[in-house]
Amino acid sequence: VELPIHEAVLGRAAEFGDAPALIDGTDGTTLSYEQVDRFHRRIAAALAEAGVRKGDVLALHSPNTIAFPTAFYAATRAGASVTTVHPLATAEEFGKQLKDCSARWIVTVSPLLDTARRAADIASGVQEIFVCDSAPGHRSLIDMLGSTAPEPEAAIDPAEDVAALPYSSGTTGTPKGVMLTHRQIATNLAQLNAAISAGPGDRILAVLPFFHIYGLTALMNAPLRHGATVVVLPRFELETFLAAIQNHRITGLYVAPPIVLALAKHPLVTQYDLSSLKYIISAAAPLDARLAVACAERLGLPPVGQAYGMTELSPGTHVVPLDSMREAPPGTVGKLIAGTDMRIVSLDDPGKDLGPGESGEILIRGPQVMKGYLGRPDETAAMIDEDGWLHTGDVGHVDEDGWLFVVDRVKELIKYKGFQVAPAELEALLLTHPGIADAAVIGAYDDDGNEVPHAHVVRQPSAPGLSEGEVMMYVAERVAPYKRIRRVTFIDAVPRAASGKILRRELRERT
Ligand code: ATP
Ligand code: MG
Repeated sequence: VELPIHEAVLGRAAEFGDAPALIDGTDGTTLSYEQVDRFHRRIAAALAEAGVRKGDVLALHSPNTIAFPTAFYAATRAGASVTTVHPLATAEEFGKQLKDCSARWIVTVSPLLDTARRAADIASGVQEIFVCDSAPGHRSLIDMLGSTAPEPEAAIDPAEDVAALPYSSGTTGTPKGVMLTHRQIATNLAQLNAAISAGPGDRILAVLPFFHIYGLTALMNAPLRHGATVVVLPRFELETFLAAIQNHRITGLYVAPPIVLALAKHPLVTQYDLSSLKYIISAAAPLDARLAVACAERLGLPPVGQAYGMTELSPGTHVVPLDSMREAPPGTVGKLIAGTDMRIVSLDDPGKDLGPGESGEILIRGPQVMKGYLGRPDETAAMIDEDGWLHTGDVGHVDEDGWLFVVDRVKELIKYKGFQVAPAELEALLLTHPGIADAAVIGAYDDDGNEVPHAHVVRQPSAPGLSEGEVMMYVAERVAPYKRIRRVTFIDAVPRAASGKILRRELRERT
């Protein structure tokens, strides 16, 4: 049987009963499975009574809190499509998103209320702003728990109706609204579960944002579907993060590469007892194999495993199964999950399929491919071809055993005199230098009009004298001549999206 997402995730909530579903990592407040189940039904009833109808778009504007999942499933139960919003978005950015998806409702939290109000003014069309906590003049989700309204009977068609409308990260351009149906998200959860299942007794730390599709899937839908406990942090702050792992005996971490970097290099890490950890999975951006190993050795764990996906793929297609984290070749993002097809095609000759070891664009076909971009038929058609293949824009290759390696994005490749240089490879190499804390590489043009690799480097506090010449020499000694760094700029911090991706376009705008 096919289920809407709230049923697919909370279908066993009654069975898990008093077991803790969500714990606030800062103050310890806990919601049991029984509470999440009951609360989301009551709030769904109250939302329906307030006028939320099937097909309405509801914007969920909140940092990670223990109320976030309840608000999300209440909204989908009422029949709404939930568009998740970056909690740090400006009123202008939020307003643009509201307008783009014609949102009628907002659920926010009191500290963000002012931004939400201004965004609603910009977009018009918003009928009401609800708050998860409480604020004068706004209906609160807490009060809604007392609603006696009947449960809504939104006739949801899982195959057609949009459950979530996340926006892509905007790494390469304007964020686009991605229409994901109930079926697409629920199917992908089932596909991923075969490789990485958590269950009762597992404790997952939600430090990446729920609003991004990676957090929504790995930190909310997947663990709650299987009775695990999710410990929630509102943002990544190293000491709070390490203390939460120690105090809540966290068993599994889903992170992005910057957190792996901190775990591998930061001196504070060794002051905490992280012995409860069984595995770490990284996704959302390229992770260097050396870093994955260094992090794991420091913590006495199997190498950090990876997963690969994108918003448009609900989001996953590849993962290193938990039971093969030791055997997986270093640097792989995993094996193709069941029920999904992949091709790797030549960048020069897009009709040509490539074999093991040859790098080309990754194409995906499967039940988790998005319904489309909202209101952008041309961009949807450019992304998904007539045969249903989604063109990821990522470059990769598989080995003889089918392990996938992601090289970089097609758009980010630097073309130096006919050769292709992947910034991710150079960034990974730069990070092996003891004097370098962080690094990003972009293409820049030299005086002769050649595109060349330009490194932006953050020095370690212990290496204030690190020079441009030293950085260039370090790389030159370790790569083929065409990959050499030709320019270095020292910066204070690498600009990154919430999901950990380097915002190379911000660096480009600076130069
Ligand atoms: P936009 O499409 O708006 O420019 P975005 O592509 O960054 O933003 P997301 O959907 O959040 O938005 O990210 C998907 C991308 O993240 C993939 O296309 C890929 O480039 C990258 N990615 C995800 N997982 C990995 C991984 N394990 N290794 C390398 N890159 C990854
Ligand atoms: Mg993308």
